[in-house]
Amino acid sequence: MSKKELLDTVAFEVVVCTKCELWKSRKKAVPGEGNSEARIIFIGEAPGLSEDAQGRPFVGKAGRSLEELLRGVGLSRADVFICNIVKCRPARSRGPHQTEVRTCTPYLDRQIKVIEPRFIVTLGNYSTAYVFSKAGVSFSGITQVHGKSYLTTVLGLDVVVFPTFHPASALYYPRYKEMLMEDFQKLRTVLARESDL
Ligand code: URA
Ligand code: SF4
Repeated sequence: MSKKELLDTVAFEVVVCTKCELWKSRKKAVPGEGNSEARIIFIGEAPGLSEDAQGRPFVGKAGRSLEELLRGVGLSRADVFICNIVKCRPARSRGPHQTEVRTCTPYLDRQIKVIEPRFIVTLGNYSTAYVFSKAGVSFSGITQVHGKSYLTTVLGLDVVVFPTFHPASALYYPRYKEMLMEDFQKLRTVLARESDL
């Protein structure tokens, strides 16, 4: 099967999944989407209201913020793969519980293994904590680790993990918007260096 077909298989399973309580209140599960041959995966937290309605990741306000950041470094949604740690929306957009993360992340792990990205950009605390735990790197909070590259091994793949803030934070706090923009410029440098090799 091609990467695209393997990702479609994961998505088909996600949309009918009932493995944790979150399926009961969702409208649509949000498996993730993008380029199956992407070099970069962006991992957010969980679907919000708009994503739950449409079944697509980052299509609401946080999505517009992410798209703007991507554009700023010469990328579009079509170049990358975008998904979340947890595939169904937690009620009132609370953070996902640890049991939900544990139950749902086998889907994310499969997506990562199929895509074999060179870069994993984690957006916010939840996805950074998860990916760092997979890499066996200790995690002390997004404020400590954002905007740096971590060359490590995740699920048997040699990857660069690049943590930054969640794009939703840019909507409410100008300071976070600045830091996100700075981090994405650093990301651009890291990506350019890599393609020179
Ligand atoms: N916030 C996220 O973390 N993911 C989405 O898909 C939308 C908002
Ligand atoms: Fe299944 Fe994940 Fe949705 Fe829970 S959040 S029902 S594990 S797809």
